[in-house]
Amino acid sequence: MSAMRVDERGLITVCPSCGQKNRIAFNAKEARCGKCKAVLPAAAEPIEVHNEREFDVLVRDAAYPVVVDFWAPWCGPCRMVAPELAWFAASNAGRLIVVKVNTDEVPELGERFRIRSIPTMAVFRGGKEIARTTGAMPAAQIEAFVNGAVGA
Ligand SMILES: [Zn+2]
Repeated sequence: MSAMRVDERGLITVCPSCGQKNRIAFNAKEARCGKCKAVLPAAAEPIEVHNEREFDVLVRDAAYPVVVDFWAPWCGPCRMVAPELAWFAASNAGRLIVVKVNTDEVPELGERFRIRSIPTMAVFRGGKEIARTTGAMPAAQIEAFVNGAVGA
């Protein structure tokens, strides 16, 4: 599904020029391929986080504000918001990182952030939550919410 993955040490992406797998540190604003030295594209799609450790390191170290979508597979409105969020991530590549947290897979995060309904979207900067909203919305409304939080 997603070309970009995450582990506890960074974003893992395949170099579009040579196919080499690279890990980009969360705090890096620009990264080059370790093999061919091409500039690697910024994250342009929502990235799924699979455990608390990955989430904590990413939001703490990220070079950009992080938009987190708390969702679950059985949630209809979450499925409606998914393509809107994907479009939003693509149009904000290099400015924001968009992360998805499946609250069934990582219930610890849902509990810690007291997620009462999904989808809930939250914006983190410097490891701290600075805004949140709930409910499905179109990409333009996601954009307005996030810009209001981080300053457009
Ligand atoms: Zn390369």
